[in-house]
Amino acid sequence: MAISDNYAIYLHIPFCATKCTYCAFNTYVDMETLIPAFVDALYKEIQCVAQNAPEFSVHTLYFGGGTPSLLTPSQFEVILDALFSNFNINSNAEISLEANPNDLNYPYLKNLRELGFNRLSIGMQSAVDRDLRLFERRHDTQMVDAAVSAARQAGFDNLNLDLIYGIPYQSLDDWRTTLQHALSLSPEHLSLYALTLEGGTPLKDAVDTHKVPQPDDDLAADMYELAVEMLAEAGLEQYEISNWAKPGYQSRHNLQYWYNKPYLGLGPGAHGFAGQIRYSGLLSPQKYIAKLQQATSNDLPFPRTPATARAVTVNRETEISETLMMSLRLTQEGVNRAMFHERFGVDLLNLHGQTVERFVQLGLLEVTSEYVRLTPQGRLLSNMVLREFV
Ligand code: SF4
Repeated sequence: MAISDNYAIYLHIPFCATKCTYCAFNTYVDMETLIPAFVDALYKEIQCVAQNAPEFSVHTLYFGGGTPSLLTPSQFEVILDALFSNFNINSNAEISLEANPNDLNYPYLKNLRELGFNRLSIGMQSAVDRDLRLFERRHDTQMVDAAVSAARQAGFDNLNLDLIYGIPYQSLDDWRTTLQHALSLSPEHLSLYALTLEGGTPLKDAVDTHKVPQPDDDLAADMYELAVEMLAEAGLEQYEISNWAKPGYQSRHNLQYWYNKPYLGLGPGAHGFAGQIRYSGLLSPQKYIAKLQQATSNDLPFPRTPATARAVTVNRETEISETLMMSLRLTQEGVNRAMFHERFGVDLLNLHGQTVERFVQLGLLEVTSEYVRLTPQGRLLSNMVLREFV
């Protein structure tokens, strides 16, 4: 796949109906009344960032959260209108929405499809209701089935399902059940995440106080290997450590991150990388809205807006490290040596030859004239390998 110099745009919708027990994302409950003001603020932030932006095309839009599916079609219409009137968005752009299964029904999805959304990422997480109850998710497995069926009926032919493994109480058979159920829905894409117990979440507290058992790392590794096997048999190709797709259905938006290519991040707490600046926005929706309500124009240099909280310039050395850390996650492509040379003016092996050679000897990396990539064994120890390139 060719590396694109187009931009991607991520839009963060920081509202949820309830908070899942494992979630540490920048998202808030009981704030839905702010959504209309938030949509106005996001509209303004889009105008602000576009005001000082250089010429570029945009090839992906991604609405993440939080729970973007809490917004109505007319609210999306306003945001899309701002995006299309302020940026040069490719006619075949990938336009993705993250969604909770229980927000999805045929009329809603039909409206979204008509607005131009062409990819749906559904937070299924598990097909075992005990896991969903532990997470305090708002849905059960039947709702996932109904959501997928409504999405197909509405014309979505590019569906992702998010799944989580390494859950307390979860057995290998439970995980097999989840994978089988997900595969029975014929998704074009699957993202599988090992559960991370994030500080400050109710689930981490419950594990720390022994109310819930600690997940077993060895069992989680077995679950990963089972997934690799089952998804390959089902014709899904692994293209990233945590992601599988039918041919031609890789997430173009996420590939932008893994290639370490530019993307704008809009909305509270969203991260972006553009014009050699890595930045993030104000976390609080109230502060975000207030800042943009006060803004009359944007005097800040691209890609900053009045809602930008932090911005750091990325020097060449950091960009190289970040590119290696991200691109080594790509299990097929790895780091493309020719593209690396073209981008940084140096051969990867001249720069990191000793480190690469050490991991080749350990059977964790493989090198050809085209690429440097993780071996299957290296994928299991990817954190250790990637750290060495920082
Ligand atoms: S729906 Fe997603 S973003 Fe919202 S609380 Fe649950 S995991 Fe977090």
